[in-house]
Amino acid sequence: MDWIKMYGSTGSDKDVTGFQTFTYAEMKAAADVAHFAGKRIAIHSYGPDGARDAVRAGANSVEHAVDVDNATLALMARQGTFTCPLWSTTATTSPTGRNMATTRPRSPT
Ligand SMILES: [Zn+2]
Repeated sequence: MDWIKMYGSTGSDKDVTGFQTFTYAEMKAAADVAHFAGKRIAIHSYGPDGARDAVRAGANSVEHAVDVDNATLALMARQGTFTCPLWSTTATTSPTGRNMATTRPRSPT
């Protein structure tokens, strides 16, 4: 096993809510342990919050990367973080197929 995948947010198939499921501290701990063990970590993320914290935590890859904001994209470029978009589910489940920020319900908290 060379990679560890962590689910940093909800979001897959028909669930495109994109709520962050792990805190920055939790993602950082996971990334640190993965790197200490000589592994890479991919963090699944729909929505800007989970992606931002995944990149800040040191994820090697942000999976799907739906709705990533420009500041996070800039940080990804600086750090060399890449993405495996797998956007086919996005294209079929988002009414616009491009910007889920306008269609995703917000967290009640
Ligand atoms: Zn995923």
